[in-house]
Amino acid sequence: MANGTDYYQILGVTKNASEAEIKKAYRKLAVQYHPDRNQGSREAEEKFKEIAEAYSVVSDPDKRQIYDRYGKEGLRGAGVQPDFSSVDDILSSFGNIFGDLFGFGFSGRGRGTRGPGRGADLRYDLEISLENAVLGAERELELTHPVHCETCKGTGAKPGTEREACKHCGGTGQLIQNQGFFTMSQTCPICRGQGSMVKEPCPDCQGEGRVERKRTVNLNIPPGVDEGTRMRLSDEGEPGTRGGPPGDLYVFLHLADHELFVRQDNDLHAEMAIDFSQAVLGTTVEVPLIEGTQKMDIPRGSQPGDLLMIRGAGVPRLRGYGRGDLIVHIKVEIPRKLKEPQEKLIREYAELSKVDVAKKRKGFFQRLKT
Ligand SMILES: [Zn+2]
Ligand SMILES: [Zn+2]
Repeated sequence: MANGTDYYQILGVTKNASEAEIKKAYRKLAVQYHPDRNQGSREAEEKFKEIAEAYSVVSDPDKRQIYDRYGKEGLRGAGVQPDFSSVDDILSSFGNIFGDLFGFGFSGRGRGTRGPGRGADLRYDLEISLENAVLGAERELELTHPVHCETCKGTGAKPGTEREACKHCGGTGQLIQNQGFFTMSQTCPICRGQGSMVKEPCPDCQGEGRVERKRTVNLNIPPGVDEGTRMRLSDEGEPGTRGGPPGDLYVFLHLADHELFVRQDNDLHAEMAIDFSQAVLGTTVEVPLIEGTQKMDIPRGSQPGDLLMIRGAGVPRLRGYGRGDLIVHIKVEIPRKLKEPQEKLIREYAELSKVDVAKKRKGFFQRLKT
């Protein structure tokens, strides 16, 4: 090997491991070291990155071949960059694997296996207002998801009838095919590996053993959440199969646009329009906040685009103390129309300041007279 990294060792498999063995080893390790299960552990995160890197290479026949012959340096030579800089990086490139693994949506994890299966994790996307994000909120989520059918106790068979052994696979759940020297085993597609089938389907679940149920879950949104904040509700996912534990529910928060404020990290930005005379002479304005209002002094000689800050009027820090600030962007409005006495004063001002201004435009009637 060209350098010390041994991907097979990292995954705990032999160099001759099959694709299925590699995938299985990876799943096991990825679940063990997944950041969601190791809150804040740097060590677990590093390990998670390491196994993702190893898996990304050995699960790909082309990359694996290069790696086997020339090592990690060989991969770099072939323009393959197997390292992941962050967990998000891994989650986005292996989205399909993790979708499969953690069962976002209805992956049906646990189905088709004989032992107890942990229920699939569920994803719920929730849009909240900026007020909710700043102040925190309590929301009721309505979930529709499959639960164990009570009528048939989850067997899928009409009460009073039994499941029968699958004729296609002889009740083993696997199909064995001999191809020359090789023996291939495949999950039976008819009984989906269960080995048995429903003779007469349960009328309530159509033989699925599960029915759709509506359910509400209370969600406590803490102050300071942001776009993309993910909240995990343990055991609120799909129920497990055959007595297995339920999955988790992941709520992804999305922030609705606000008419006054734009959020940037923990600061809020708002625009405030003032008259040019206020900019020149200074004033005190009432600034709207997420909660209530606050008086703010605008100093004499303020310029368009000046930034004024109201400390602590931003978003609370989700992890840590205190709040961000409200940054007010000053916009100076120049009047488009002036009444006669206003124009007179401005002209006087221009004269005193010794600046040239355009001559007075004649009104309609004055133009007719000349
Ligand atoms: Zn049923
Ligand atoms: Zn079968």
